Amino acid sequence: ASFGFKTVPEDQKEYLVKNVFDSVASKYDLMNDATSFGVHRLWKDAFVSQLRPGRNGPMKCIDVAGGTGDIALRILDYARENYYDRETSVDVVDINAQMLKEGFKRFKQTMYHNTPQISFNESNAQELGTEKFEDNTYDLYTIAFGIRNCTSIPDVLKEAHRVLKPGGTFACLEFSRVNNPLLNTLYDQYSFTVIPLLGTILAGDRDSYQYLVESIRKFPPQPEFARMIRDAGFATGKDVDGGAWTDQWGGIACIHTGVKI
Ligand code: SAM
Repeated sequence: ASFGFKTVPEDQKEYLVKNVFDSVASKYDLMNDATSFGVHRLWKDAFVSQLRPGRNGPMKCIDVAGGTGDIALRILDYARENYYDRETSVDVVDINAQMLKEGFKRFKQTMYHNTPQISFNESNAQELGTEKFEDNTYDLYTIAFGIRNCTSIPDVLKEAHRVLKPGGTFACLEFSRVNNPLLNTLYDQYSFTVIPLLGTILAGDRDSYQYLVESIRKFPPQPEFARMIRDAGFATGKDVDGGAWTDQWGGIACIHTGVKI
């Protein structure tokens, strides 16, 4: 696919994002490993460990922009391995049917297949739908490497707030800002040369990966995103590591959390 992303108007972004993930769905997991040298796995592990799903009994979770189910699988495994919990459940939501299909295929190989612990749902993070996703339903809302692809971050946060129970947790893992200038220079070099090249070689799709790199640079820095989370009605910790957010690898990725009040 070649669609000159830089000049695309915002109102067409959703359609194009859908195309990006259509074109990369089957190679998505491979590309994640190749472009991050497997590091995305460590960040996802850190994300789920920080949330400790199942610590206070079974949780009803929703993983939005859940793609092929990386976070959902970790949540279910964490609850089972640490708390012998086989009742925590995750509803995976994604706008892209191809990604969900890959996820469904993958879960077929797991003990969660055909149990109430997992479901795959096609829907838009900005408008989950009040019929299928009722107000005050979930204990935990996760979104990993997905919110930056959405046209309106405030709309996503508003929906997250709506579907969470009061006291429920919003948690986001996303690429963020690197504050160390040297690390930032190296990271820029890597992102704008190596990643699109790997996209070409491994997935035959340079433009999609070029877009993904650009979308990372446009995402609001940590304090601004924390403010948006607060504006949506969540309580966050102080604006420092371990509070409103926790940087991973100097801010290459970052975990933001908030509690619905
Ligand atoms: N969370 C998974 C992970 O960490 O491996 C997948 C992340 S992938 C980079 C981003 C996902 O966001 C894609 O599966 C894409 O289809 C989905 N997505 C993009 N825009 C969306 C939207 N508006 N609503 C729901 N999902 C969306």
